[in-house]
Amino acid sequence: MTTSTNLRKRVLSGMRSTGKLHLGNYVGALANWVRMQDEYECFFEVADWHALTTDYADTSRVKENSLEVALDWLAAGLDPEKSVIFIQSHVPAHAELHLLFSMITPLGWLERVPTYKEQRENIKDKDLGTYGFLGYPVLQSADILIYKANVVPVGEDQVAHVELTREIARRFNSLYGQRGEVFPEPQSLLTPAPKLPGTDGRKMSKSYGNTILLTDPEPLVRQKLKTMVTDPARVRRSDPGNPDVCPVGDVHKIFSDRATLDKVDEGCRSAGIGCIECKSWAANALVQLLTPMQERRKQFEENPRLAWDILEAGSQRARAVAAKTIAEVRQAMGMSLDYEPPESVAQGTDAAK
Ligand code: SF4
Repeated sequence: MTTSTNLRKRVLSGMRSTGKLHLGNYVGALANWVRMQDEYECFFEVADWHALTTDYADTSRVKENSLEVALDWLAAGLDPEKSVIFIQSHVPAHAELHLLFSMITPLGWLERVPTYKEQRENIKDKDLGTYGFLGYPVLQSADILIYKANVVPVGEDQVAHVELTREIARRFNSLYGQRGEVFPEPQSLLTPAPKLPGTDGRKMSKSYGNTILLTDPEPLVRQKLKTMVTDPARVRRSDPGNPDVCPVGDVHKIFSDRATLDKVDEGCRSAGIGCIECKSWAANALVQLLTPMQERRKQFEENPRLAWDILEAGSQRARAVAAKTIAEVRQAMGMSLDYEPPESVAQGTDAAK
């Protein structure tokens, strides 16, 4: 890494280690991360502890899922020469900072986080009644602040989490920052995330079973596209349609080139093309995007040790940065590991005499 790295703003972002990634993950975050690597000093975290906040009982696949996420990251173009790519649980200082933050975070701050209420109401097949689930935004704050990140790329639904991180940083600084501010307040960087529907037209999500994975081979991508829902007004081939209300139209808008988009727009509205043909063009665009990624992934799949070595080296770099922050935190809180006798003892004026 060059010295100019130190002049760049620092970014922290991560994904829960829930296994292979889908196109929604790519469009919503990963594609943007790949671009950010040249402009920012990036730390990308495979958030395996966060995966436990909703699925704690069976940990048999945690490690494998972390590796799958990392393979998809490397396949998509995250570069360990440019960015620090690491596993959250391999940097135990996150847990120490999380514990200290949990002491100073009022319960009300967590209960009003919008995603907390939303997920408690909507996710019925998981046990979310745990302390870990309520406290996961505090762990997220520790993830960000342990690296003193300046910038956090987020979607709309995560802005509240960065705001909470800022509140925790302010509270920590005001309680313990007598010798100067310990934590900077990170800024949200809103990621422009185009709407990518899944094959059933709802948001692409693993829990809906409507995803196209970055690892899906060409025949499967084509098969999934074939079953994708279309503009319901186009019942017959002769009915004109509207790509603006069609999930396949959304796929085109994100992945197809201008010439194809024009053909789709004209052909759909005039019933000049059929949906099968239109879907095959969308599949072409996806295959063109995914093929080079899958080729890159193959090298790591054939030798997963390579990817694991990258994660280990990244975790080591992350640990070094995190250790410095924890030392400052301990110092600020009067809990440093160095022996510093209390003033009364040092001066021989023990009040108990
Ligand atoms: S032609 Fe394409 S955009 Fe139009 S309804 Fe069919 S699949 Fe959708």
